[in-house]
Amino acid sequence: MSSETQLREEIAKHGKSLFDRGLTSGSTGNISVRTEDGWLMTPTGSSLGDLDPARISKLDADCRLVSGDPPTKEAFLHRAIYSERPKARAVVHLHSTHSVAVSCLCGIDQNDVLPALTPYYVMRVGKLPLIPYHPPGEETLAIEVANKARDHRAVLLANHGPVVAGTDLASAVYSTEELEETAKLYLMLQGQKTRTLTCEQVTELERRFPAGDLHPFEKLPLG
Ligand code: ZN
Repeated sequence: MSSETQLREEIAKHGKSLFDRGLTSGSTGNISVRTEDGWLMTPTGSSLGDLDPARISKLDADCRLVSGDPPTKEAFLHRAIYSERPKARAVVHLHSTHSVAVSCLCGIDQNDVLPALTPYYVMRVGKLPLIPYHPPGEETLAIEVANKARDHRAVLLANHGPVVAGTDLASAVYSTEELEETAKLYLMLQGQKTRTLTCEQVTELERRFPAGDLHPFEKLPLG
């Protein structure tokens, strides 16, 4: 496992990359990583584009602040995911434009928001449930997120944004990017006849790359 210093630097590196590419703006978005004795989490009010590794919040196993700045006010979203996904080692939450846009659409399937447009989406994200709208910071949202996290690697908060788990930070970031790109494709294809993957093709992918926090896709040299 990476040292805490390496993990802090990784959080800052990925945060800056996400921010610089416009995947979350201002002080929105937050990142956490599970450590041997608790969590590292981005601080409240911080910009992902300008994180100081030394000031990242360190939380103990009971989520009490040990050192650094106070954690994001959305820490409860991260805790909800970790509580149900023991193999998850990182969680990324963004207010990424296309995913938020899709989360605002009327008539989407609440159990599986985005169609299976590409195999990479099926392998990295899988089924994406929509969590009904809650005002920012309302902790009842955590119960709904936890309920869905049991069987899903990612959830989409209505009128808000995605929350995505991974076996490590890079994996959580890449899955969040795959979700955002698929949301963008979905919006581009609105009003056009679209050929999605068939049920058989999705089932075959799920058989070869089972959902969960550890799946063989992570180890394959696929593009
Ligand atoms: Zn948020």
